Amino acid sequence: MSRLSSFSCVSRQLAFYRPGSWSTCNVIFNQLKDLRPYSTVPATFENALLRDACSCSKCVDTSTQQKRFSTGQIPLDVHPKWAVQVNKNEEYEITWTAQESEDHVSVYSQELIEQLASPLRRYNNRWRFVRDTKLWDAETLKENLVSRSYDDYMKDDEAFKDVVLGLYSSGLAFIERAPTTESTSDLEIVVENIARKIGYIKETFYGSSWDVISLPDAKNIAYTSENLPLHMDLLYYESPPGVQLLHCIANSAEGGESVYADSFHVAYKLLEVDPISFYTLTKFPITFHYRNDGYHYMCTRPLIELDNFYMNPTPEHPPVRIKCVNYSPPFQAPFEHFVTQSETAENHAEFRTFLRAFKAFEGILYNKSELFETRFKPGDVALFMNRRVLHSRREFRLPPATDADNTDGNYGRWLKGTYLDIDSFHSKLRQLSGL
Ligand SMILES: [Zn+2]
Repeated sequence: MSRLSSFSCVSRQLAFYRPGSWSTCNVIFNQLKDLRPYSTVPATFENALLRDACSCSKCVDTSTQQKRFSTGQIPLDVHPKWAVQVNKNEEYEITWTAQESEDHVSVYSQELIEQLASPLRRYNNRWRFVRDTKLWDAETLKENLVSRSYDDYMKDDEAFKDVVLGLYSSGLAFIERAPTTESTSDLEIVVENIARKIGYIKETFYGSSWDVISLPDAKNIAYTSENLPLHMDLLYYESPPGVQLLHCIANSAEGGESVYADSFHVAYKLLEVDPISFYTLTKFPITFHYRNDGYHYMCTRPLIELDNFYMNPTPEHPPVRIKCVNYSPPFQAPFEHFVTQSETAENHAEFRTFLRAFKAFEGILYNKSELFETRFKPGDVALFMNRRVLHSRREFRLPPATDADNTDGNYGRWLKGTYLDIDSFHSKLRQLSGL
């Protein structure tokens, strides 16, 4: 068995090691700039992983940017033929020997290698804007809450960017002085146009947009004037909408204040004070459903969902990344797991553990300090991240005069809403963040 032999490129101290066995034959980069303070140098790559990242025109289509081979086609024993070269553009060049008819030359930019070598850089590349997430309670929200006029949002690039980034960062943003003209066709355009400026609409069984008004024969709790508790929308969908927009067209109601809460702030607080409850809530399955009016939707998910592929990039970051919270008591179905004792004797204890954790979450959530309260004026548009920010509406009463007007289609309280697809929102966010 031969010992490790190394080849190095003096100028950059690049080396790859070629041991007798392919399984430990890896490319090593020394002295990468820009990795401090968190990375350990040198950076070592599995050969096949680096080969997989080749973006030459044979490997990635220059026009569609689609990968032209499958990872499975890379030979297990792929390795560089000779030392890593630095070409005249200061890029790394690796010539691979493999069971291919001709050698394959891969070129990697400094930037790409440094990015791949650093957890923080990889993280920033996907989620740079996450650094700007501002968890809030009612007091701290006010420092970061973005609110811009409708005209600025529609016409001024900076105002538009402020709203989109602010919406991500706080999970909530406002647009003011949007048109509230009487013509229904115009109104439909307003809230949908605001959404479409960011991305595409997430159509649901409510249509591409919908009205929230007081109806005598309510099919949905939102259409009544009772207190609507904190919740998220459509958690009984496999892919609930990421962003919700509510446009106030009329509001002469008494009461009916909107209340918002940052569920991530609540969940991270729970992690701090009661980690056992936090992790219980990442596992225990809750079923949400909507069964009414010819529809039957259902989905089971835990209260807190974590990003399973999260790698804590620096000690300053939280140890886990919460992907979303699923809290919507009005749409909970009976529990389906751990129901009877016939499965195992511990089942009932398991449910009680969950119940204690659920109570602990609500114990923090319903602190007055967590709740941001505001009232819709005609022309206001609220935009919020439906997988993070909880919303509710206090009970309201329409003045008698307005009740009479309802028969003419002149509603005392009228909100028009729409949903934005989460992926189209993230795409716009990355684009605006320069990723
Ligand atoms: Zn290639």
